[in-house]
Amino acid sequence: MADIAELQALIGAKVVLKAEDAYLAKHMVDTGVTAPADAKPLGVAYPSTTEEVSRILAWCNANDVPVVPQGGMTGLVGGGVPTSTPSLILSMERMRGVEEIDAGSAAMTVRAGTTLAEVQAAADQAGFLFPLDLGGRSAHIAGNASTNAGGNRVLRFGMMRDLILGVEAVLADGTVISSLNKVIKNNTGYDLKQLFIGSEGTLGVITRLVLKLYPKPRSQCLGLVALDDYPAVVEFLGRCREGLSGQLSAFEVMWPGFYRTGTVALGRKPPIDLGYGVYVLVETMGSDPDTDQARFESVIDAAIEAGAVKEAVVARSGQQTKEIWAIRDCPGEFTAAGHNPQLGFDVSIPTAKIGDFAAEVDALLKSHWPEVKALYFGHAADGNLHVSVHLDDKVGTEEEMDDLIYGLVGRWRGVISAEHGIGVHKRPYLKHSRSEAELALMRTLKRAMDPKGILNPGKVI
Ligand SMILES: Cc1cc2nc3c(=O)[nH]c(=O)nc-3n(C[C@H](O)[C@H](O)[C@H](O)COP(=O)(O)OP(=O)(O)OC[C@H]3O[C@@H](n4cnc5c(N)ncnc54)[C@H](O)[C@@H]3O)c2cc1C
Repeated sequence: MADIAELQALIGAKVVLKAEDAYLAKHMVDTGVTAPADAKPLGVAYPSTTEEVSRILAWCNANDVPVVPQGGMTGLVGGGVPTSTPSLILSMERMRGVEEIDAGSAAMTVRAGTTLAEVQAAADQAGFLFPLDLGGRSAHIAGNASTNAGGNRVLRFGMMRDLILGVEAVLADGTVISSLNKVIKNNTGYDLKQLFIGSEGTLGVITRLVLKLYPKPRSQCLGLVALDDYPAVVEFLGRCREGLSGQLSAFEVMWPGFYRTGTVALGRKPPIDLGYGVYVLVETMGSDPDTDQARFESVIDAAIEAGAVKEAVVARSGQQTKEIWAIRDCPGEFTAAGHNPQLGFDVSIPTAKIGDFAAEVDALLKSHWPEVKALYFGHAADGNLHVSVHLDDKVGTEEEMDDLIYGLVGRWRGVISAEHGIGVHKRPYLKHSRSEAELALMRTLKRAMDPKGILNPGKVI
């Protein structure tokens, strides 16, 4: 193995730190996965320019040194966590800042290590909305791109892939691929930026992005409704899609155990009583404050009259809006609510079938471990269900539960990772959602772009 001191001499002491440095601890864990005990990274590189990333990768490729790209380490599947293979950690945290906001083109050029919160704030200050939103706002924007993050507003604005106009990335051998387009229409051959989006640092390192901006909404309406069962949720979603058309920006479903956790377990007064079959947070973003609220409320009123919705609360202030969103955002507070450690599942099933699927997951878990505590919630309008199982002495091992649930997802022809990616955690289960031919094509792409296999080995494929 090459001596990392050589790289230090080449790039500079500020860029490469020795493995034993105190900086190392924070690089060994993301929100969901901790590095194995025998993981011994060779060092950590903190490049601050594309040229430095290029020089580091060229040296690593020439010397057969594996590289683990890291963003904000909010990932939940261990994509940025070092494995037992000795590797160089490539932290993008110094490559930070918004380079340009082109108001006329509604486009923002930003460096990889800028956090999602910083991007949202910069867009807001410039009079725009950057609509990607999720609980882990300290994620890097390139981490969001590398995982093709989803979150709360996908049904209106799409996944991260839909919010990217251009990408600059560095290949395993140090070649810089600059596709920093600002235009939506670009049919000049293969859309190369897509190779880097969602590939979790296995095909290249993203260094800069051009993001798509939206006009800032002039109205925002939020409601929480209670319903008897999931078929009523599907009926209510149909009403919202029709009555609120292009304005519907979030439709978050919470089953009773999750609702209890987000309210009473955290000392919050529930805006609607416990005891209903299911709860939905519904949000719109619009451009006419004078009429949008009335339209929003008329859709909810009609659903109450039709018997689909049993009880509803509409937010009347910014504070109430925050309080209702806090219930949905409670996974960030699972520890305080006594629901940690937990094992999370992030799967896709067609929207209309999510209720039946959740019931089958629950029955399956209980048939093995009758006292299991599992919480169900999700971005149901996107077909995305999250299941969080409390890891206590009343349930089996993580592996037993993974085998059980991902096997079921496979039988339902669902997707084992809706938005969190594959990383190391879901790698053994990729076969449940991808055919042999698809997996073979992924391996061909990987070999073509990274022949020596130095980029994030042991992840994804
Ligand atoms: C409370 C909470 C709520 C969350 N909610 C959601 C949600 O609703 N929707 C959702 O999609 N996710 C959610 N997440 C997961 C997480 O925030 C996303 O996956 C996020 O996009 C990861 O970004 P990161 O910068 O933290 O990446 P990291 O965890 O650092 O890395 C993730 C992957 O990207 C690669 N990578 C990072 N930077 C680069 C780069 N510059 N070039 C190439 N590869 C790179 C890494 O190698 C790794 O494979 C949540 C996380 C938390 C903690």
